[in-house]
Amino acid sequence: MTSQGETPQWDETRRSADHARGSVALIFDKSVPGHRGARVPKLDVESPPLAELVPEALCRQEPPHLPEVTEPEVVRHYIRLSLLNHHVDRDLYPLGSCTMKYNPKIHEDLARLPGLGGIHPDAPEESVQGILELLWCFSRDLAALLGLDAVSLHPSAGAQGETLGMKLFRAYHDRQGNQKQTILIPDSAHGTNPASVARCGFRPRQIPSQRDGRIDLAALCEVVDADTAGIMVTNPSTLGLFEKDLGAIAERIHAVDGLVYMDGANLNALMGITRPGDMAVDVVHVNLHKTFTSPHGGGGPGSGAVAVDKKLEPFLPVPLIVKEGERFRLASDRPLSVGRLHPYYGNTGVILRAYAYMLSQGAEGLAAVTRAAIVNANYLMKKVHPIFPVANPETCMHEFVSSLAWTRNHGVKNIDVAKRLLDYGFHAPTVSFPLIVPDAFMVEPTETETRATLDRFAEALSKIASEIREDPERVTSAPHSTYVGRLGEAEAARTLKVRWTVPEQRHA
Ligand SMILES: *Cc1c(COP(=O)(O)O)cnc(C)c1O
Repeated sequence: MTSQGETPQWDETRRSADHARGSVALIFDKSVPGHRGARVPKLDVESPPLAELVPEALCRQEPPHLPEVTEPEVVRHYIRLSLLNHHVDRDLYPLGSCTMKYNPKIHEDLARLPGLGGIHPDAPEESVQGILELLWCFSRDLAALLGLDAVSLHPSAGAQGETLGMKLFRAYHDRQGNQKQTILIPDSAHGTNPASVARCGFRPRQIPSQRDGRIDLAALCEVVDADTAGIMVTNPSTLGLFEKDLGAIAERIHAVDGLVYMDGANLNALMGITRPGDMAVDVVHVNLHKTFTSPHGGGGPGSGAVAVDKKLEPFLPVPLIVKEGERFRLASDRPLSVGRLHPYYGNTGVILRAYAYMLSQGAEGLAAVTRAAIVNANYLMKKVHPIFPVANPETCMHEFVSSLAWTRNHGVKNIDVAKRLLDYGFHAPTVSFPLIVPDAFMVEPTETETRATLDRFAEALSKIASEIREDPERVTSAPHSTYVGRLGEAEAARTLKVRWTVPEQRHA
């Protein structure tokens, strides 16, 4: 910081060719009261005069009108905004099939380190050896955790991981000369599964679950034939159940030269204890933003890293980070590769958070996380089952699914219970998915919640159950305490209104 007198004027900074050469053109406007200014640092690179870079017609004639606010006002503004929404830093977020509940704050500092967050994706390989090494090491460690041979960090979401998986299946079958079209998918699958399959030109074929919610092995064996290109299985399933027969299923699929894809979005219930590779899985995607702690929501940011068996390694997307001696190289010279999937080499911010988490936990720590996630889910399931019956009330993995069918007799739907929970200070569980459970209500507490929090949540559900019987209108008109009530989310996404108005506080 310098005294005001040395600060370059707005006009000088913008117009003077001298100033533009070898300096960062920053805006310093002495007319703003209280402005203290700063010295413009000299850079030792030659840059053309600013007037050449920015056409005259696009230049401002006046300084921008920035709001004048004090630090406390800025802080209060953002705190107020943050309170308009429910989020993990306020209270329990028991959304099922999402595993995104723990976001260590130190990760934000790590991912923003200038040498990591500040580098340009086009920077020459030689100048980014550090991050290439981190990505390479993470790929190696993730492959070990999953019991597979190679990893691609390119996919930016679970769904993109599935897409890559299907592209790898396609490349493998083409190479084998196989004309296979059908991919089997259990009826409890996440909607992205059949979508990814269809997008890659395969035909999804649904296979039924048995009464206990697991894949029906006998029904599966009947439909496997020469046209079976593979299967896509979520393990544990979206019902929170471990697919005990996956080994036998894989054997049947491999017998017709099919491949096994595991949707690993629920790895939170397996890591450190068992490995997809040991269940004869050929390809698995992991939602790093779910299982490995990245704040996400509303569509991103994400990473759907994919791990593969060695027979699929040649097909992985380029560039692949390879280690040659002590150097790391972005290898694109891979003739069998499915090509590029991501403009650069993955969503590195999310990947770095994931690696920080993996290293800070260690193998023992990750297994402890898994055990705690399973214990929490089973503790809560026992408390919730008498209130809202659980579809498959045997020991669950990291989540369980209740059916809210009985509340319909009182004119109350699962979405009403979800909205009423907001008045009790909780986010709702996932509702109406998986499709095979009527009026599904899917709860995933995760490992980081305390017993006291789980008790409060069960208590809130118990109160809502009483309201449903005594005063159902209170539930169907919820939420009563939030700034906005029931938003038409699909419409809001299509006809976006970006004008800011201060909403009036609603009262319970
Ligand atoms: C979240 C999820 C996906 C899709 O992952 P995205 O990152 O949202 O694309 C796929 N399968 C299951 C079981 C999931 O929970």
